[in-house]
Amino acid sequence: MENSIKALLSTVIHPETGRNIVESQIVEHIAATAEKITVALCFPKVRDPFALKIKQQVQEMLRTAYPAAATTVIVKEAAPKAAPAVEKRTQTGAIGRVIAVASGKGGVGKSTVTANLALTLRNMGYRVGILDADIYGPSQPRMFGVEGYLPDAETVDGEVCIVPAEAMGIRLMSIGFFIKPDDALIWRDAMATNALRQMIHQTRWGALDFLLVDLPPGTGGVHLAVISELRISGAVIVSTPQQIAVADVRRGVEMFRADKIEIPVVGIIENMAWFTPRELPENRYYLFGEGGARRFAEENGIPFLGDVPIVRSVMEGSEDGRPAVADDPTIEKFYREITEKIVENPAIGCR
Ligand code: ADP
Repeated sequence: MENSIKALLSTVIHPETGRNIVESQIVEHIAATAEKITVALCFPKVRDPFALKIKQQVQEMLRTAYPAAATTVIVKEAAPKAAPAVEKRTQTGAIGRVIAVASGKGGVGKSTVTANLALTLRNMGYRVGILDADIYGPSQPRMFGVEGYLPDAETVDGEVCIVPAEAMGIRLMSIGFFIKPDDALIWRDAMATNALRQMIHQTRWGALDFLLVDLPPGTGGVHLAVISELRISGAVIVSTPQQIAVADVRRGVEMFRADKIEIPVVGIIENMAWFTPRELPENRYYLFGEGGARRFAEENGIPFLGDVPIVRSVMEGSEDGRPAVADDPTIEKFYREITEKIVENPAIGCR
């Protein structure tokens, strides 16, 4: 039985190397009885981006061929080798401007803002991509309704590229395509940065006017990796009224302004700034104080880009896989004003 499983698995091709997983010794171990099949896959590369895709393929194949047996597919990684060779290949040459979207804390709406900014830029006629680098909660696949997407590899001019998802005219690559949701929390920065580097340089971005990078909240290794791997034109900070006074926001700003990093902070967006009940459309309730982000911006010499209220359509949009800008003209207007300020900023220099 083990031999026939082996023969079956030799039809699975690793998208990057083009070799089958038996021949390339990824299939490390097969144990099989009529009731139970266990296959261990060991990938020579740390955090191989195709591991999840191959695991699912193997699982599917075994279930179809041996429906009576319980199947377990274990994925392991070989011990990392000494310092990896510098990645020379890169697909980022045709990207005009990279904008990092950051926040002091999670839950302030950074991912929602990134998705809506991307769509607004797209509606203004720009070619846009999103790199979702939020290892603690990659939510762009959900924002654009492409959660199940498993990236494939493709060879362009002799280089192996990873094919991004595409939704609403936006190219999307997310760390979420390579990990299961439960994995995200246990990922350490060092492991994630390996996969990120590959995502940055091997994604077939094509020509883009803007690449928006959805960073994890706070400051950390992923930020440094993104900063060192990509030429970032400017950073946008997202905060809520509650969070603005908290030191994390200031630390975020300082990270971009630090010596030798010196990335211009294009501005701050205040999200969930006020609430307007549907039956009282003229009333604005500033539940957590008014004007905090504007004051913070002034005190720190940062442009204030604008605010976005708490609106049901924004929340529903991110659940339904269609950012609210697509369907809600009121929200579209808020985002249009913010985005105009971003593209007019000298650091971005589109106008
Ligand atoms: P972060 O990326 O900062 O962790 P998210 O973008 O995931 O935050 O947003 C957190 C939650 O807040 C989501 O459920 C999202 O739908 C909701 N949300 C974000 N902005 C708004 C808004 N302006 N109005 C209503 N809900 C919002």
